[in-house]
Amino acid sequence: MSKEIEKVLIDEEKIKKRVKEMGKSISEDYKDKNLMLVGVLRGAVIFLADLVREIKIPIKIDFMAVSSYGSSTKTSGVVRILKDLNEDIKGKDVLIVEDIVDTGLTLKYLLKNLKSRKPASLDVCTLLKKKSEQQTSLNVKYCGFEVPDKFLVGYGLDWDEKYRNLPQVCALKPELHIED
Ligand code: 5GP
Repeated sequence: MSKEIEKVLIDEEKIKKRVKEMGKSISEDYKDKNLMLVGVLRGAVIFLADLVREIKIPIKIDFMAVSSYGSSTKTSGVVRILKDLNEDIKGKDVLIVEDIVDTGLTLKYLLKNLKSRKPASLDVCTLLKKKSEQQTSLNVKYCGFEVPDKFLVGYGLDWDEKYRNLPQVCALKPELHIED
């Protein structure tokens, strides 16, 4: 393991087991629906790829890429759409697939934006969620793991584009996580 990594927080087996459970719940909950998964690039790609293979009902997949202004380790809440959806989501049951919800500001923006396109339903599935006051108003339907307020990398999460390919979720050494 790299010297920049403090420790492994969630290992491969735990992730696999939880993703399987989440896929099962989603398959049951959306069995007679018109499910469209919206992956948020780039962090959610690994989670989404594993999750869809645990969903046993017909689905569609689309992607959005957003960038929040701020440093690489802290969200500012001002979100810019870098890539919009290819598909029209009107009348569809949309599930936003996120890697991690921290302050919830990115998600808040996405929910507002997608809601205006009149989906039949709009919910959120995130692998990780940090505990934060601002999240309480957000409707996260599926959450893989609640995590401590550390800067995490691996399983899609990056630090300056590094470590997305780690199979585990790890904490970065705190001295490297500089908030501005
Ligand atoms: P929020 O708007 O909820 O504060 O932050 C959401 C986004 O910030 C995530 O989609 C992710 O891109 C980034 N983020 C938040 N916490 C972490 C973290 O611990 N590690 C990494 N790599 N990104 C994070």
